[in-house]
Amino acid sequence: MTYEHYIDGTWTAGHGEETFTSEDPATREPLGTFHRGTAEDVREATAAAAEAFEAWRALSYIDRAEYLWDIFHELRDRHEELGEIVTKECGKEISEGKADVTEAWHMVEWAAGNARHPHGDVVPSEIPAKDAYMRRKPRGVVGCITPWNFPVAIPFWHMAVSLVEGNTVVWKPAEQTPWCGQTIAEMFEASGIPDGVFNLVQGFGDAGGAIVEDYRVDTVLFTGSAEVGHEVAGEVGPEPGKTVSCEMGGKNAVVITANADMDTALHSAVMSSFKTTGQRCVSAERLIVHEDVYEEFKSEFVDLAMQVAVGDPLEEDTFMGPVVDGRQVEKFHEYNDLARTEGANVLVDRTELTDEEIPAGFEDGFWVGPFVYEIDYDSDLRCLQEEVFGPHVALLSYSGGIERAVEIHNDVPYGLTGAVISEDYREINYFRDHADVGLGYANLPCIGAEVHLPFGGVKKSGKGSPHAREVIEAVTERTAWTLNNARDIEMAQGLSAEITTKDEE
Ligand code: NAD
Repeated sequence: MTYEHYIDGTWTAGHGEETFTSEDPATREPLGTFHRGTAEDVREATAAAAEAFEAWRALSYIDRAEYLWDIFHELRDRHEELGEIVTKECGKEISEGKADVTEAWHMVEWAAGNARHPHGDVVPSEIPAKDAYMRRKPRGVVGCITPWNFPVAIPFWHMAVSLVEGNTVVWKPAEQTPWCGQTIAEMFEASGIPDGVFNLVQGFGDAGGAIVEDYRVDTVLFTGSAEVGHEVAGEVGPEPGKTVSCEMGGKNAVVITANADMDTALHSAVMSSFKTTGQRCVSAERLIVHEDVYEEFKSEFVDLAMQVAVGDPLEEDTFMGPVVDGRQVEKFHEYNDLARTEGANVLVDRTELTDEEIPAGFEDGFWVGPFVYEIDYDSDLRCLQEEVFGPHVALLSYSGGIERAVEIHNDVPYGLTGAVISEDYREINYFRDHADVGLGYANLPCIGAEVHLPFGGVKKSGKGSPHAREVIEAVTERTAWTLNNARDIEMAQGLSAEITTKDEE
């Protein structure tokens, strides 16, 4: 069977001739074949979304949220099954596959629950007879473009709030995870949401590009790489009235000071660098360690990196599954080679796993293991500046105070997340106040998000925050609304409201 797009409440093969296959990155077993969306398919989807907008926005918040509550229950009831789908399609180990689904229902819960919370503000006016308000209006059609690594959670970051606020949606999932996209679309269909309110177009970057270009799309929400995100933001930028909100990658770091608790440091570093096989936007590819504790940390971290369990992601005792595809394997090897040419002293090289490490039946999967090196810090090294998105980790020794560690920490174009490990609250507070991050952690890994906290970066990592409360700003328009309760018109700032005539002059 070849899966279709979901446009205007109908499953359709669309206009393209091409199909593509999703495969399990652990085994290369095919999971499904999907029609590849074209610009024409996107145009049909945006037209349907534009057509559905007026009737959808006319519903109350509460009524719109009812459709999302159905989805909330389905995500919860099918937790195990959906977690396995996530793990099979993107290779994350099973606790992460299930956490992805949990995060999705948390987001839906937040968005649907927020329907009953106050929206906007009552604002005092200078004129006693006037009532002034800040009200919100939905922007219209929201185009959502999402990455593969959180294939259920991130789509709901984008879509749950957008829909409850009264927008309609055209969504393109990542080409690596169309099966997750299909599953979510089936849930929307089952919820009975009116035709055209939710639309799914499967496909690649060209379909994403068509969403960005379409004049009917009022807001673009993008989560993915900085390269693509800045291109998207650049295209939307000049279009009057269209807005864009982008969440992108990072070159994140954990700072381990001389006052760190060593167990906390090691635990946090392993989680930060190797969870999701290093393929989180928040993964740490740099560990910045004080010289006084460097040798001890290095020796123990290297031992752990040699031991972390890589294997079948459906097994509960696996720590790292495969990377998502062949392109990711190549990129990982390229950056490991680059680090070598830039002077790395390689400490752990499990990049080609042994036959014993790869379970039977998994020989064809996209396997890599940890690559850990030490290198003298230098701003010009590309391996310290560019996101690899894999278990590629540099150990950097620093001397001096927390100020120096933060200087090194901030010396990257990105600014998504970071952590400091220290028992000294002054160091922690310095890091909190000076690290260039949108998400900061102390005595924790630099990964992990909760939906009611803002999630976004600074510098090259972020331009907006398509997530929870913040996404409301991207998908609604604020209106200042003022009502006069008096018969006479009185203006603020002492402006005269008198209409004088020629005779009076
Ligand atoms: P990607 O940028 O390659 O693709 C993301 C989405 O954009 C996909 O759906 C893709 O088809 C689409 N796309 C590609 N080219 C496009 C174009 N020209 N116009 C419009 N759409 C286009 O990213 P990926 O490989 O799927 O995901 C990994 C990246 O995402 C990493 O850089 C990671 O750090 C980042 N990420 C960021 C966050 C965050 O919240 N900050 C979360 C997850 C992932």
